[in-house]
Amino acid sequence: MENFRRRRALVTGGAGFLGSHLCDRLLGDGLEVLCADNFFTGAKKNVNHLDGDPWFELLRHDVTFPLYVEVDEIFNFACPASPVQYQVDPVQTTKTSVQGAINALGLSKRLGVPILQASTSEVYGDPQQHPQTEDYWGHVNPVGVRACYDEGKRCAETLFFDYRRHVGLSIKVARIFNTYGPRMHPNDGRVVSNFIVAALQGAPLTLYGTGEQTRSFCYVDDLVDGIVRLMRTPDDVTGPINLGNPSEFTVRELAEKVLELTGSRSEIRFAELPSDDPVRRCPDITRAQDTLSWEPKTPLDTGLRLTADYFDDLLRRGSAGSDSG
Ligand code: NAD
Ligand code: UDP
Ligand code: UDP
Repeated sequence: MENFRRRRALVTGGAGFLGSHLCDRLLGDGLEVLCADNFFTGAKKNVNHLDGDPWFELLRHDVTFPLYVEVDEIFNFACPASPVQYQVDPVQTTKTSVQGAINALGLSKRLGVPILQASTSEVYGDPQQHPQTEDYWGHVNPVGVRACYDEGKRCAETLFFDYRRHVGLSIKVARIFNTYGPRMHPNDGRVVSNFIVAALQGAPLTLYGTGEQTRSFCYVDDLVDGIVRLMRTPDDVTGPINLGNPSEFTVRELAEKVLELTGSRSEIRFAELPSDDPVRRCPDITRAQDTLSWEPKTPLDTGLRLTADYFDDLLRRGSAGSDSG
């Protein structure tokens, strides 16, 4: 047994796409990691490779219930992120965002430790300012189908800043823009996974609406690096701070890129645009550049290639449809 104690991080939602990469990074940085997840959209297989690591612990836990553990820092990532998934049980999505934030903040308060919130570009809704800076208040439909997520995340931000103002907690709020990479769930409905899986299977790629809506896609390793940098800032750095890739593409351009990279001959089809789907989204990352000396490094082609390799392997092993386990 080693005679020192490592800094211990709690990652809620640590068995999900981003959370599992964050667990890897923190363990690599020499921390001990407690991962708490109810496996709603995450899966044990995302952290299976950490099984047997003495510094890693996996806890099945729903963040809408209190959690009493002893840690030195908290990364609050639990929440379904794909529009398809967060609309499956919208009330549970709001509870996860809001009650999950209250419990994580209560834990942070009892322990006196810093807490980072995985917020989202969705707090800007269907933005009317472009690109989006952190001082833009957003344009969200509070009664639409995306509101369970958007308003849940907005309320979580409110809670973070009220705990800061009233209790003096050390908070860090990251507004994460579309991020992609290995361990995205192949069937969770997000555009990068949908397109790559379809292209690899020779199935049609479906553009919702005209495909002219834009997104900016950040590779997961870059995003996780920004998250860790933010957590390591002094107490007065609270955010909110945009983390994402400022290169903007239309969804149609993404489809064409995926077809080219995979050499697929899949056709492109069109379907109705889902309700409240934002027309344009692109982060202004000046604040992250100035405060964290951070910007994404991975070009879209490189990141898509790495992601396609992951899905290719998954499909070959025939495990694309399985969930937790
Ligand atoms: P994901 O769905 O892969 O991961 C979310 C994880 O949270 C899953 O493991 C899921 O099982 C877990 N979870 C959900 N509800 C829970 C609950 N009640 N209790 C415990 N665990 C629960 O999604 P992701 O892309 O990894 O997103 C992680 C976080 O980052 C989310 O908070 C999301 O809002 C935020 N985010 C992600 C993106 C992105 O592009 N990936 C963009 C903006 C914000
Ligand atoms: N909480 C938790 N773990 C802790 C401390 C608190 O899960 O270690 C939860 C607790 O259930 C409470 C919530 O966090 O409902 C908010 O805690 P806080 O102390 O801010 O509020 P209060 O308990 O006074 O309502
Ligand atoms: N989209 C699409 N085809 C798909 C999945 C998504 O055209 O198979 C579009 C979707 O309408 C949105 C964009 O791609 O405009 C990004 O969707 P995603 O669900 O990945 O995330 P969002 O940024 O909307 O939260």
